[in-house]
Amino acid sequence: MRRNIAAGNWKMNTSLEEGMQLASEVVNMATAEVVKDIDILLIAPFTHLTSLQKIVGEAKNIFLGAQNCHEADSGAYTGEISAPMLKAIGVKYVVLGHSERREYFAESHALLASKTDTVLRHGMTPVFCCGEKLEIREQNKHFELVEAQIRESLFHLSADQMKKVVIAYEPVWAIGTGVTASAEQAQEMHAFIRKTIANKYSQSLADSISILYGGSVKAANANEIFGGADVDGGLVGGASLQSREFVEIAKAF
Ligand code: PEP
Repeated sequence: MRRNIAAGNWKMNTSLEEGMQLASEVVNMATAEVVKDIDILLIAPFTHLTSLQKIVGEAKNIFLGAQNCHEADSGAYTGEISAPMLKAIGVKYVVLGHSERREYFAESHALLASKTDTVLRHGMTPVFCCGEKLEIREQNKHFELVEAQIRESLFHLSADQMKKVVIAYEPVWAIGTGVTASAEQAQEMHAFIRKTIANKYSQSLADSISILYGGSVKAANANEIFGGADVDGGLVGGASLQSREFVEIAKAF
């Protein structure tokens, strides 16, 4: 079901104590102030998730997410975390294919297809990231690239599986740079993604999928970006590390 979502990707930031403080502030403020119907995701480091579960508790519409997981359920993969491990501690969402993982950990379309299967098989929601680097946009190949990212990693899914995926469009040139895509650029790509999904599956399926924008979202620009008809929220990096800023983003719908 298409939901508005504000997802905070903490990346490799915060000590456990800082993370617990941040989560408590977000939960308290959001519970007291966020009036509109929106899901809030706290996508925290693995080491924090069990402790954060106690803080998120029964809070309505606030969920825990992980930043990655391994494609296998268990085995000799030193240093990795599996989907069943995440599921067992109450994680509901798993970010897959963030541009930092594609860039620094060489995550391929095929690997991400496999991770998507695993996350779905364990009843969690993949937040599948796609987006182009600046040189690709300058060559006007950004639609082609995003279409390929989605096709190669998601289009093997059945309609029932695809319905459960959240997509995050994150132009790499806008991540952590302070440069935001314009509301028009975001809406244009989101509409393209929805059309791509509609062509493969159906319009009603495409209309049921949440498509988030990520790239230097902050309280000052969230309302404009979220105004796009096909923009269903944000995947927020830097600004999600400040509770007040993040909650203001969540209130920007
Ligand atoms: C991100 O890492 O997903 C992101 C969008 O980061 P930032 O908001 O800092 O650009």
